[in-house]
Amino acid sequence: MFNMQKQNTICPLCKQKAHAVSNITIKAMIKKDKLKEFPNYDGFNFCKTPDCTTIYFKKEVIINQRHLIKDVGQKEWSKEHKVCYCFNWTKTNIIGKLLLNKNTNILNQLKEKKKNSKCNCIEKNPSGKCCSNDIKEIINELKSKFIF
Ligand SMILES: [Zn+2]
Repeated sequence: MFNMQKQNTICPLCKQKAHAVSNITIKAMIKKDKLKEFPNYDGFNFCKTPDCTTIYFKKEVIINQRHLIKDVGQKEWSKEHKVCYCFNWTKTNIIGKLLLNKNTNILNQLKEKKKNSKCNCIEKNPSGKCCSNDIKEIINELKSKFIF
């Protein structure tokens, strides 16, 4: 089993904190042609800064959107802004659900879905992580604009 590194790494471009991703995520996200350049897929980090062009990096290597098979929803150029890659929830879907229900049971819905689990964030989400924190951020962003 992959052992997630605890320490945060800094993106060489935007200088913001990034997190380590599993080689499983790298293998699932990067185009085959690009993957061939690496002896192994360990040690990569993911940068989630919306306006930073870095997706993954390690040492002198930087991976951009064009090297990936999927659109990275966390980035500002994303057309869809997909948040939950396991159940195909986009930012627009989520905001719609939130505004409709005026509450935030959306995280519970996600937990329920995860129980009957077809969830596979490590291979499906470019961040390699569960989207619940991303959903929390959207909720907080909305809360700062509207009063629930
Ligand atoms: Zn960055």
